[in-house]
Amino acid sequence: MTYRAPLADIGFALKYGAGLKPAIEQGLFGELTLDDVDAILAEAGRFAGEIIAPLNRVGDTYGTPFKDGAVTTPPGWKEAYQAWRSGGWNGLAAPSAWGGQALPQTINAACTEMWHSASVAFADGPMLTMAAIDALEAHGSDALKRTYLEKLVSGEWMGTMQLTEPQAGSDVGALRTRAERAADGAYRITGQKIFITYGEHDLTDNIIHFVLARLPDAPPGTRGISLFLVPKFLLNADGSLGARNDVRAHSVEHKLGIHGSPTCTMIFGDSGGATGFLIGEENGGMAAMFTMMNRARLAVGLQGVGVAECATQQALAYARERRQGRTAGMKPGEPAPIIAHPDVRRMLLTMRALTQAARAICYTTAMALDRAERSAETGARQAAYHQASLLTPVAKAFSTDIANEVASLGIQVHGGMGYIEETGAAQLFRDARIAAIYEGTNGIQAVDLVTRKLPLADGAAVAAHCDQLRGIVRELDASNDPAFGWTSVRLADAVESLSRATSWLLARLDQEPDAALAGATPYLRLFGLATGGCLLAKEALATMRLGGDAAARLAVTRFFAENFAVQAGGLERTVVECAQGVLGADAALSVP
Ligand SMILES: Cc1cc2nc3c(=O)[nH]c(=O)nc-3n(C[C@H](O)[C@H](O)[C@H](O)COP(=O)(O)OP(=O)(O)OC[C@H]3O[C@@H](n4cnc5c(N)ncnc54)[C@H](O)[C@@H]3O)c2cc1C
Repeated sequence: MTYRAPLADIGFALKYGAGLKPAIEQGLFGELTLDDVDAILAEAGRFAGEIIAPLNRVGDTYGTPFKDGAVTTPPGWKEAYQAWRSGGWNGLAAPSAWGGQALPQTINAACTEMWHSASVAFADGPMLTMAAIDALEAHGSDALKRTYLEKLVSGEWMGTMQLTEPQAGSDVGALRTRAERAADGAYRITGQKIFITYGEHDLTDNIIHFVLARLPDAPPGTRGISLFLVPKFLLNADGSLGARNDVRAHSVEHKLGIHGSPTCTMIFGDSGGATGFLIGEENGGMAAMFTMMNRARLAVGLQGVGVAECATQQALAYARERRQGRTAGMKPGEPAPIIAHPDVRRMLLTMRALTQAARAICYTTAMALDRAERSAETGARQAAYHQASLLTPVAKAFSTDIANEVASLGIQVHGGMGYIEETGAAQLFRDARIAAIYEGTNGIQAVDLVTRKLPLADGAAVAAHCDQLRGIVRELDASNDPAFGWTSVRLADAVESLSRATSWLLARLDQEPDAALAGATPYLRLFGLATGGCLLAKEALATMRLGGDAAARLAVTRFFAENFAVQAGGLERTVVECAQGVLGADAALSVP
């Protein structure tokens, strides 16, 4: 499968959409320059396109055979992983104290998109390792950090994230894996986890599992969950690999997509309990796991952007080559390339516009994380933290929803050839599907947005967000450029729909929570459309200011406003009117 990193689009969205350029000028990232950014992106793009992308189809067809408790990764993957980690990509944004490069999360976000464009299955493992690094750095003891962080940051060892059990999926609080305090100060872990990404593999000689478990005297639900670091191999006093820990993969799932990513059932405690080391406080595991999950949620959103970008590139290339029929006014003879047909143009523009909007949302979220970590003033850090918290479920769910839509359109543009595996469009469609499910389903993201993120700072975080969007619309109005068509009117309507739907939901959260939850998913879509549309406009305005050729960005912004932002009014009505129809629809659901 071919993939060429869209370096110009990515660089522009980073610098002018997400605001990396002003952040660098303000000195947020020390000595980092825009030239450095370009050089990093170019090298990441080269690696993704030349080294990883050619392995994507191999991973799909070979899978991850499982024999005698061991997983074999697809041919060429080990070498590619070693080259990738030797390039320092795993520790790009990790702290320098542990061998990382401490570069902005924003740059890491762009690279994450590229790894996922090249191969979701390949990028899945490193994505979780990076999230594990964040959790250990933020919550681990000094001793654990000294022992494990350097090897995780360098990618010599990979990490896993282990929440799910058969009876505990979305409801993490229902988990039963047990942790007993041991005399040596460690814990003995027993239980079963399912669906664990890269739970077993041969890419690294140790695997560090981050496992949620419950102590015998723990309170019920999520207040009684602790996080443990459980290495596949225990370490000798000198840090070398020692005895095999009491944890093993029992099986590997057969699944719709991401065949190169081993999804394992894990068994802890066949022989008395796996040795685990507590991260953070006893019963404080959810806080630590949320650090890990939030990073992983943004990364899964970027996975969506990556797949959508790749599907768009592939569909565009096909639409330029494939000839069928004629367009109005064409003379008989050579048929037209299908890109000339209005309906195909509509599909391609939809793919491009949704992808760029999702990219803008994800990069803006990453920039908020950078500002939350690095801003000089406490108030600015706090505001940025709230912005990142608010945007994370939108980045995850909006981007992965559109990835599914875009990958499906990718097949449609190919016609019958899209349904045939050899073209690669079908693999993208299959690989995209999981992103709306793992790291918290998109339904759970919508619940999180409505119940936990809207009330942040008494509603001030979401109010500030709407004000920022209004500021972009005002700028658009002032630009007075006829090429924008109805863009500013459509975006202004979308932002006001978002604002009114937000107030409606906030007013119902306490008294009528089910009414609010019934509209959570359409609300998240409304949030994504209003935000994505305004961020595209921000990028288009920046292109015009810079005096460059703004035609492409203007066209995408206008298309998005006229075809997608315009849906905001309908979504607002759904949010405020759907509760009765959803909650009182037993009759419809009782039909067998
Ligand atoms: C390929 C793959 C890789 C995975 N990797 C990992 C991993 O590395 N680590 C890990 O711990 N887990 C992993 N998972 C598990 C994944 O995170 C869960 O599948 C996911 O969280 C959903 O849980 P579930 O499958 O039990 O679905 P359920 O929780 O049973 O949900 C079923 C449906 O009900 C909805 N639903 C459930 N509860 C609510 C609610 N309260 N409000 C609204 N809707 C609700 C959901 O949105 C969903 O549509 C992976 C799964 C797969 C398939």
